[in-house]
Amino acid sequence: MIVGIDLGTTNSLVAVMTDEKPELIANSLGDTLTRSVVGFDESGQVLVGRAAQEFQVLHPERCASQFKRYMGTDWACELAGKKYSAVELSACVLKSLKADAEAFLKQPVERAVITVPAYFNDRQRKDTIRAGELAGLKVERILNEPTAAAIAYGLHEGGSEKTIAVFDLGGGTFDVSIVELFEGAIEVRASSGECFLGGEDFTRALASRVLETRGAQFEHAEQKTPLLVSRLLQQCERLKRQLTREDSGAVRVPNEQGELTDDSPSVTVTREQFKAWTQHILARTSPPVQRGLGDARLKRSDIDEVILVGGATRMPMVVDYVQELFGQQARCRINPDEVVALGAAVQAGLFARNKSLDDVVVTDVCPFTLGVEISKQLGQDYRSGYFMPIINRNTTIPVSRVERLSTLAPNQSEVKIRVFQGEARRIEDNLQLGEFTVRGIPAGPAGQEVDLRFTYDLNGVLEAEATIVKTGKKASLVITTHARHLSDSDLKAAVANMASLKIHPRDEAVNQFVLRRAERLYKELPLDLRDRLDGLLSGFEGALASQDQTVIAPHREELEMFLSAFDRDHADDARWDGGDASDEADE
Ligand code: AMP
Repeated sequence: MIVGIDLGTTNSLVAVMTDEKPELIANSLGDTLTRSVVGFDESGQVLVGRAAQEFQVLHPERCASQFKRYMGTDWACELAGKKYSAVELSACVLKSLKADAEAFLKQPVERAVITVPAYFNDRQRKDTIRAGELAGLKVERILNEPTAAAIAYGLHEGGSEKTIAVFDLGGGTFDVSIVELFEGAIEVRASSGECFLGGEDFTRALASRVLETRGAQFEHAEQKTPLLVSRLLQQCERLKRQLTREDSGAVRVPNEQGELTDDSPSVTVTREQFKAWTQHILARTSPPVQRGLGDARLKRSDIDEVILVGGATRMPMVVDYVQELFGQQARCRINPDEVVALGAAVQAGLFARNKSLDDVVVTDVCPFTLGVEISKQLGQDYRSGYFMPIINRNTTIPVSRVERLSTLAPNQSEVKIRVFQGEARRIEDNLQLGEFTVRGIPAGPAGQEVDLRFTYDLNGVLEAEATIVKTGKKASLVITTHARHLSDSDLKAAVANMASLKIHPRDEAVNQFVLRRAERLYKELPLDLRDRLDGLLSGFEGALASQDQTVIAPHREELEMFLSAFDRDHADDARWDGGDASDEADE
């Protein structure tokens, strides 16, 4: 069985293609959204999802979130005395989704299609494949998120013929894709975006301004009082969602220990203020939109429909801005949180040759330019450091292109090939993906020829191969020379490390979530309520120790009733009702 997975910055989802249509799979809490948060509890066991999110409030030093932002980098964080990379943390989330899918399908799940932002580079894509491997999943395809959304829409809309723009603002990344739909074909014409732009930037900007009103500086507070910042960010996340529905809202600023008490100062923020504070973030979506339209050789009036994807597109200011950018109202007929996972499931169904998808064809593009460093002759001299594109951005994939290079000096026996991604003329402004050396060039005058072939596959993974024209000798590079590249033995060690992690069994997830939520709330309650909660918590802990579900369940239910009465943090979770983006924003 192949599943489709949306591995998101904030939330992750898993879905599967049933006979007729894609279907989302709920986790053990009954939610289709699993928070992309990982924590290590007091006993060193791994918590994933909402339990980890609750645990993070009191123990930010034992939990990690938003690690998708660090895929493709050397970032690592120390949790409970051990270092974890973004790949390993992502693998924990994937493992949890895999377990949910297995429980739902009642069979092992070993293959997956995983989505990534279209603008993810080669390293970030490889890290995603590696995270899948660590979680015990063979990654059949890395699929671009906006393409996945277009696939879900393509299927939803039947055979209608139109050009759509997918505006995808998630938790941490922004993509825009221009896609043509016709007769079962879903053809991406152009993709563009920014890797570090998403809903979390709005939350941080809000938290920063709220702190400013209290005379404090966000970066400084982050260093000095992480508990305060962790709790404030959680409060601001809630306020941000509230401002999606209401004209104003208030946030309480926790104390340095991250506690909210009756004396915690409250700061009121209006929707207008929030908009003014974050205009500069929103404006960063405009250049990628213009570039995408330009690359597709289309004007905005050629776009028949604009589709919103990603949780951050719920904000009314985003809806308005998209309308300004495209000159038309955006639509979101499919839940923007779910559409990517649904598309991934359809792609998984294409792999599994699902009968209902016989006529569906999907083509995608490479969203950035790939090339090598060359030297240019300037007067008498050669100057290095220039970028020569080999595959131009928005070329349909898979693609293979050859360029001929020549040696600069007589009897030059080797050439170093440095591979870059980016749009800048000079290499220092682009991203280096790797390098390799072609050796054994026959002696002779300058101008010995070397053919360089770039192959960019359907996963967005690049391979480069050089051939010495005179001898036919080849040298090649699957772009893996990044400093952090794992050798086979490193990979084995990482797999062993992963296997040694003790993950809470799936059927314990609800208990863990309720326990962590109650512990978090305990710190915030007035004393009389605290005592009541303490009693309930002790009863629940005792029941957990008995390991008897018939004893645990009634204690848990009693505790949950108390939590729903007194915990304000979960009262505001947004619901999606479908329809025009404006309807949703106005509700
Ligand atoms: P995604 O990565 O697509 O799950 O998007 C998650 C982002 O959407 C996070 O930054 C959330 O804060 C944001 N988000 C989700 N719901 C809302 C809402 N109702 N209002 C504002 N932002 C939201």
